[in-house]
Amino acid sequence: VSSDLQLVSLWLRKAKSAVVFTGAGISTESGIPDFRSPGGVWTKYRTVYFDEFCRSAEARHEYWSQKSEAHTEFAAAVPNVGHHTIAQWEASGLIRGVITQNIDGLHQIAGSQDVLELHGTAREVSCLDCDARFPVAPFVEQFRTTNQVPLCPKCGDGRLKHATVSFGQSLPEKVFERAHHWCQEADLVISVGSSLVVYPAAGLPELAKRNRAKLVIINRDETGLDSMADMLVDGSCGEALAAIHAAL
Ligand code: NAD
Ligand code: ZN
Repeated sequence: VSSDLQLVSLWLRKAKSAVVFTGAGISTESGIPDFRSPGGVWTKYRTVYFDEFCRSAEARHEYWSQKSEAHTEFAAAVPNVGHHTIAQWEASGLIRGVITQNIDGLHQIAGSQDVLELHGTAREVSCLDCDARFPVAPFVEQFRTTNQVPLCPKCGDGRLKHATVSFGQSLPEKVFERAHHWCQEADLVISVGSSLVVYPAAGLPELAKRNRAKLVIINRDETGLDSMADMLVDGSCGEALAAIHAAL
């Protein structure tokens, strides 16, 4: 283990309210492409904006086609060593929990208990009209067999959308408030696999840093907050987390 990673281990052991912040990069080693790399979601689909989804049946159909295609990848993915390490850190009281921009649910599957999903989850759908929530799989199945956008079984004709934050849609307020609070109180934030350019999410590690937390960034490419970091770890998320863990 390099001396840099040893130092991060030491910071983690000494921290009183450490938080892990994750982005799409932690899940690429589980086979889910990130946004910006070639083959990622950006390059594959046209973005369906939230207001279009709300007002246009055609846009809803386009959205559901994209999501049911992406569903196969999600459903098959399993957590990797990075997700498991973070879950272990929470279980042993080293971190308060994880704030994630991911919508894949892999932190929970790995055993993390307190996961603040800033951008919601693709494992559920929610009704825009009555707020009911349901597991996603049966609705994807229904879309695939009927080629019709599914309607809400609770209110009857409500518009169902994945319980994720679409472009133009606001973040879940309560979740964001808790994340904000964690970052205000944090003495260490470890950002893993995020380009740290998507706001308001990226404002959270920034806020922690301004409140005197140490900021560690693990990412294989440049990020928006590199110049603020106390430590930059350039490499695989899974390997870096495992190495920090080994040095604890
Ligand atoms: P991003 O795609 O902007 O950044 C990911 C970063 O991780 C990149 O800088 C990339 O270089 C790095 N990276 C990728 N694989 C890595 C690896 N194995 N080791 C080290 N670094 C690696 O993702 P973001 O910052 O999370 O923000 C984009 C948005 O994408 C989020 O809002 C999120 O909701 C959404 N998204 C989520 C998922 C998911 O749930 N898994 C997947 C794609 C996109
Ligand atoms: Zn409904």
